[in-house]
Amino acid sequence: MAKYSNQKNEIKEEEIEQAAQEIKNGNLVLFPTETVYGIGANALDEVAVKKIFKAKGRASDNPLIVHICNIEMLEKIVKEITDIEKRLIEKFWPGPLTIIFDRKSEKIIPNVVTAGLNTVGIRMPSNKIAKKLIEKAEVPIAAPSANVSGKPSGTNVEDIIEELQDKVEYILDGGSSDIGLESTVIRVENNQINILRPGKITKEELEEVVKNVQVDAHVLGKVEKNEIVSSPGMKYRHYAPNTKCMMVYSKQKEKMINKINEITSQVNEEGKEVLVLGRKNNLEKYISKKKWNIGENLNEIAKNIFTLLRKVDKENVDLVIIEGVGEEELGLAITNRLIRACEYNYIVL
Ligand code: AMP
Ligand code: MG
Repeated sequence: MAKYSNQKNEIKEEEIEQAAQEIKNGNLVLFPTETVYGIGANALDEVAVKKIFKAKGRASDNPLIVHICNIEMLEKIVKEITDIEKRLIEKFWPGPLTIIFDRKSEKIIPNVVTAGLNTVGIRMPSNKIAKKLIEKAEVPIAAPSANVSGKPSGTNVEDIIEELQDKVEYILDGGSSDIGLESTVIRVENNQINILRPGKITKEELEEVVKNVQVDAHVLGKVEKNEIVSSPGMKYRHYAPNTKCMMVYSKQKEKMINKINEITSQVNEEGKEVLVLGRKNNLEKYISKKKWNIGENLNEIAKNIFTLLRKVDKENVDLVIIEGVGEEELGLAITNRLIRACEYNYIVL
């Protein structure tokens, strides 16, 4: 069982020091970041990083993001930092942006971290506890989202303690994650930004740095079997509850609500039950007996969605219908997670 610091935002220095010592000792620490919780290990220690894959049941071809606390750490790991990357770092770090760089050498960041790729994803978190943990550990920390592979990422310790407490040495509880969705993952090539995974830093914000920003086809498209993808994480079943889920979206609110009610009544006629996840202001319009508020705006929805997805299996319903949010700004990241939670079962009208 892990040592557990549950001081929420008032974690003591000495507790972070103890957790950092566990990282130095080659053990795993569950820690908060502004995006979601992470399960961290010393990114320079192959044996320690292997423990992450085991704890999560993560496929070994799915690379990890390396978390750093200063530019010196970055310079030690990567081959070069281009002008565009420098501008992105200036604008968005510390913060929820992961940049894929060419790795300097496998002798520094081992193959197990990058899944054998010659590139490495790096991010500088802004969360104070995460920052201090890396500073005190004095090494970059490789950390994927804190969840057993396939499940929604952990955005507070209560949601994940049961599935992870026996797998880590120390838990730092920093309360609810500010953002609630994982970082935006990008690669800069030929003076162009490719979004491999959308997140809190939006396409619109990236366009303020470089005009040419592309969204990888797999962000909203289905990955076919044996297809090669630029971000290996996109291949895997992710975020999906056991209960069948579907997403319904239309730019016209009434159309969306009518469609959700139409599906609800069809399902009810079969003697089955529906749970609707919708915006607060729409809930009274739904005929379903069970309905949950997902939030009023994109920031709130991002913050709530993983916790809600984790709870739906306890409701014993036959179908969960989730309101879509469109693809603008943070909507792209939420939609990317929702269509995976629904295993591509969605209707856009
Ligand atoms: P997670 O650790 O759960 O936040 O997932 C990390 C995401 O970053 C996964 O989707 C990975 O595929 C992606 N990623 C990490 N490193 C690389 C890399 N070197 N190249 C491409 N994608 C990467
Ligand atoms: Mg993850």
